[in-house]
Amino acid sequence: MLGLMMHSPLTVGKLLDHGFRVFPQKEIITILPDKTRHQYTYTDLYKRSKKLVYSLIQKLHIKKGDNIGTFAWNHYQHMELYFGIPGAGAVCHTINIRLSAAQTEFIVNNAEDRFIFIDATLVSFFEPIAALLPTVEGYIILNAPASFTSSLPNWIHYEDLIKDAPDNLDWVEMEEDEACAMCYTSGTTGLPKGVLYSHRSCCLHALVVSLPNNAAISSYSRILAIVPQFHVLAWGLPFAGVMAGAVMVLPSSNMQPEALVKMIIDEKINLAGGVPTIGQGIYAVLKTLNPPNLPLKDFLIGGATAPPTLIDNFQKEFNVRLIHAWGMTETSPVGTLSKLQPEHESLSDGEKIRIRSLQGQEALFIDIRIITENGQSAPRDGFTVGEIEIRGPWVINAYYKSTSRENFSEDGWFKTGDVGHINPEGYLQITDRAKDLIKSGGEWISSVALEVTIMAHPQVKEASVIAIPDPIWTERPLAIIVLKEPGTSLPIEEIKSFLASSFAKYQIPDEFVFVENIPKTSVGKFDKKEMRRLYAEGKL
Ligand code: ADP
Repeated sequence: MLGLMMHSPLTVGKLLDHGFRVFPQKEIITILPDKTRHQYTYTDLYKRSKKLVYSLIQKLHIKKGDNIGTFAWNHYQHMELYFGIPGAGAVCHTINIRLSAAQTEFIVNNAEDRFIFIDATLVSFFEPIAALLPTVEGYIILNAPASFTSSLPNWIHYEDLIKDAPDNLDWVEMEEDEACAMCYTSGTTGLPKGVLYSHRSCCLHALVVSLPNNAAISSYSRILAIVPQFHVLAWGLPFAGVMAGAVMVLPSSNMQPEALVKMIIDEKINLAGGVPTIGQGIYAVLKTLNPPNLPLKDFLIGGATAPPTLIDNFQKEFNVRLIHAWGMTETSPVGTLSKLQPEHESLSDGEKIRIRSLQGQEALFIDIRIITENGQSAPRDGFTVGEIEIRGPWVINAYYKSTSRENFSEDGWFKTGDVGHINPEGYLQITDRAKDLIKSGGEWISSVALEVTIMAHPQVKEASVIAIPDPIWTERPLAIIVLKEPGTSLPIEEIKSFLASSFAKYQIPDEFVFVENIPKTSVGKFDKKEMRRLYAEGKL
């Protein structure tokens, strides 16, 4: 028997309706590429998003389900696109601005984007490939100076597009399972694949991420969204922030750690989110400035393993709580999040950091299981390792335009390709990506465990470990290290003895290379595919 409640689809337009009605004067602040500060209110965001809806439908003849690309930094117009495009019934396809031209061409053609909203500063990237994108009818240029000109076909200024439009149109009526946004995986392990989010998945994800046990987002939050809007919808922060009435601060292209620290201080940011490399950069700047009364309280960190030393240093030196979270483009992204529970309060500081360094407990509505090499579901004992499988209302059910079931179990769980274990308290620990594990003499070695331990050495800034072929052992670990002080040296015997207290002899790398920079992916993670290529070509 069905319940007798109203059918009221969960749509992202409703998140902004609520933000506008309840928090009409809340601010959205953008530090524009030229470093000027733009500020407006939720009311402005609401009205301009409505103008965009009208313009998309009436001027660009967008129909329900059309894909519309965005190629932009984090800023207020990108927020308008997050609400206006789905509000017109279309799909907001955020394109990663840091991919290669060939990958971008593949992504746009695969998505069959009809229009692309693009930052004026990024136009030169698209000009050479525009002729290869037959589905794109035109480009809408964001933040362009009056003198702007381009060889792109059919371009117009964003402000001209929405200028005369009425601001009181209703959002297009949608069912909650209809698509509202799309991101492609960043292709760390292969060709980018399309992940199509629904209105419902975005709303539920925003709600759960905001819960007190998770990021605790409320009308008291002042959020710096460092994680790019072109990467997994900025971890859902724009939706969660607007729903909760948070002040949103958007850095556009000002992604240098010095600039971000200035924003944290000037804008009294109490919650930020970014990948570990960003966290490392911010920490280094805070060390030199040592600002009094730092407003920052919580920093969501994920996308790659956050080194325990970083979690510890932020806590001890700046009283900032790094909240370690795990997820993927395919999981919207939040799957797990690590916070202490009341019963942990009496533990030692070291023990608390150890728990907070795990990837954490399942978010509400998310189920995780570990499938061992022999296909069994592993007990939650804290050591039985296997592939992590996940299911939930914001987890992918199929890749865009793909019929392949390769990444799904027979009973419908998504196979993440990550490897780890879960302890009896329900905390997940990722020990590696399946593709990055090192199989040496029939034993598995975790590259992540080696990396975080090497990075705990006081002279080491960054470390990454990859598998290299070995005629005897099949594979051996190779450690690639960046030292904090250029021109200094670290004897290999010293690192080996540093590792000896935590690792068995066979797990310790025989080879170490010192480099100035570790190659990073488009979203700032260690690029192991690139390092393996460099090694194979003898360039490491
Ligand atoms: P890509 O797959 O291209 O790197 P994603 O951003 O979707 O793009 O990356 C998801 C992957 O990042 C996960 O499968 C996992 O390997 C890694 N990851 C994300 N968060 C964490 C974390 N907290 N700790 C360790 N690895 C993480």
